[in-house]
Amino acid sequence: MAALHAKNVMALTGAARGLPQAVPNSACFHCDVCCRFPDPDSALRPYFTDEEIASAVDRGLKASAFPDLNGSQVTLVPNPQGEGFLCPAFESTTGRCLIYDQRPLDCRLYPLVLMWNASHDEVVLGWDSTCPYTKEHVPDSIRRHADQVLAVLEEQSTVRRIADHPRLVGRFQSEALVLAPLPGLTQAISTRWGPEQCRRLVLEDLSRLKTALDRSKMCGSLAAYSAPYHYMWNALLPYWWMDLEGALCLFIQSPDGWFMPLPPLAAGALTRPLNKAFGLMRQWNGASAVSRVENVPAVLVPALVEMGYRVVPKSPDYVYRADDLARLAGDRYKSQRALCNRVEREGGMVVELFHPRDRAACRALLHKWRSQKLARGADPLAALLLEDSVSAHEVAWSHASELQLTGSVLRRNGTLCGYTFGYWLDRQTWCVLLEVTDRTIPGSAQFLFRETCRHARTEGAEFINTMDDSGLTGLRLSKEAYHPAARIDSFVCSEILQP
Ligand code: SF4
Repeated sequence: MAALHAKNVMALTGAARGLPQAVPNSACFHCDVCCRFPDPDSALRPYFTDEEIASAVDRGLKASAFPDLNGSQVTLVPNPQGEGFLCPAFESTTGRCLIYDQRPLDCRLYPLVLMWNASHDEVVLGWDSTCPYTKEHVPDSIRRHADQVLAVLEEQSTVRRIADHPRLVGRFQSEALVLAPLPGLTQAISTRWGPEQCRRLVLEDLSRLKTALDRSKMCGSLAAYSAPYHYMWNALLPYWWMDLEGALCLFIQSPDGWFMPLPPLAAGALTRPLNKAFGLMRQWNGASAVSRVENVPAVLVPALVEMGYRVVPKSPDYVYRADDLARLAGDRYKSQRALCNRVEREGGMVVELFHPRDRAACRALLHKWRSQKLARGADPLAALLLEDSVSAHEVAWSHASELQLTGSVLRRNGTLCGYTFGYWLDRQTWCVLLEVTDRTIPGSAQFLFRETCRHARTEGAEFINTMDDSGLTGLRLSKEAYHPAARIDSFVCSEILQP
């Protein structure tokens, strides 16, 4: 995580400067591990506190590299010279960190790492044994270095600062050797965030999440009751989870505060886990109205009102008969059918399964598509959503198989001009998660959508869910133009705040 030559002088939030260098520069210059990451949502990308973001921006990094200016993991950029992703502060041509003097604590610590222990009840200092230098050398010097770092990490000012930014403490890594517990830090984080520790949602948690979703039987046909729907946003908006009263509770840490993207996922009664979850959000957010539960299905509304919560509708999911969209028959689909016919007449279009080698072409198309939409004058909310969606698309391209997403690409005369990703919500319902096409090719969007629906129907889909409209008028009109068979109500639940 630290720069090639950035793993030297230690300075923890101003508390300790001049601690010795853990790995010599000469070793770092010949290493090609740090600052490069295999995936866009890599758990090891560095976390910057608010102050570290401010100084990085002062040194020339774009503020948009940070999803949350209050503190966030940096948004990685595709490696222009090959596979994988880079920290935006890393200059690949020179191998230098552009903010070397101001690099964050996360990078300064490396190859030492702050992490939870395996049972997630204690913060420990670990040593990343994958660092090529430390693999090859007797670890005595690392241990001496760690002793000095430990002393600093238990200083009150450092403890307070880290407790303000719990994401500085990573998930347990089996490749990291545990060097020592940090009881002061464990205590401070528990006091600040509650004894039940939240864990960052990572790919390995997906089967747990899927089991909890199935067990809750809460879906109500809403597309949000699936793991990929949430995980794709995890690089932008960090997701956390914890078990509360036997329910799996998902939380999102947004720039405005914490909220739940789903109700507690439990087989039984919700009262205790929900009350507890709101208690935690109150502790984290104060009295802010940001504390809420999203994607509440209609079936839960009477019970939540009975429990004294406020429940308001949000935009519904649009659900269509797969047969309608596969055939586009009749007057009501005249315009979509005409565009598909035009594509067929002109020829040269084929739909194929997405392959990871399509990623670069998909990325280029996404940038083109965004420019086309912005040039047509997208409203401010739509422009923001477009900007935010880039990391979600990167996650879909990188983790399609782990997320059980099926992707298809549209090619015209061999050139990629569209792609779509979706997943099975249940045996009858196919959800369309993403669709991007070159807007300069008339009919490409309609053709790709129809072919996707045809394929889903042949695989057994009775319904197609295209999700909600995010409150965007243009999106609502385009969804309405396909004549949904149903709009699945979805609600937001919050506490009734006393004046
Ligand atoms: S901030 Fe600097 S040291 Fe840290 S990952 Fe980025 S390039 Fe590397």
